[in-house]
Amino acid sequence: MGFFDRWPLLRQLRRRADGNGLEAASARTRELAPRTKGAEVTRSICPYCAVGCGQLVHHRDGELLAIEGDPESPINAGTLCPKGAASHQLLTHERRLTRVRYRPPGATRWQDLDLDRALDMIADRVWETRARTFVATDEDGRRLNHTTAIAHLGGATLDNEENYLIRKLFTGGLGMVAVSNQARI
Ligand code: SF4
Repeated sequence: MGFFDRWPLLRQLRRRADGNGLEAASARTRELAPRTKGAEVTRSICPYCAVGCGQLVHHRDGELLAIEGDPESPINAGTLCPKGAASHQLLTHERRLTRVRYRPPGATRWQDLDLDRALDMIADRVWETRARTFVATDEDGRRLNHTTAIAHLGGATLDNEENYLIRKLFTGGLGMVAVSNQARI
């Protein structure tokens, strides 16, 4: 850039421009680029609700940069509601919970739990509840092999394969009959 081109007014005069074009931009402005420039983009689905809006997740070197609506999604055509537009905070917000929080029965305070310990507790309780409530046959001797004491509600972002496995494990394996999904609501 020449000496006189450093000042927007001089650029405007030299080019006989009206000051609304690039001649009015500073060097700093010209260097600005979207924060997503050169980022990798991965398609995903908003995890918040059953609408299942398509999202474009911009990331670089393992860092999440931005999440936008996917223009090619037939569900949302590039738009996101305020919740979906803020979904990058699920990963980046400084106050997001990163530990399992547990409040024992009767307790007034939450405590941190190790994830493996929490999963063991859930498995123990599911198994104990099933054993206690399992009904093999009805009063006429017809086979039931089920429990109505445990239910499962899946999330909108579970895919077909995950729902297949959930159905196999919970219904076929444990005998749960109340298995549904938020995407059906
Ligand atoms: S962007 Fe909004 S409407 Fe779409 S799935 Fe997410 S929460 Fe639901």
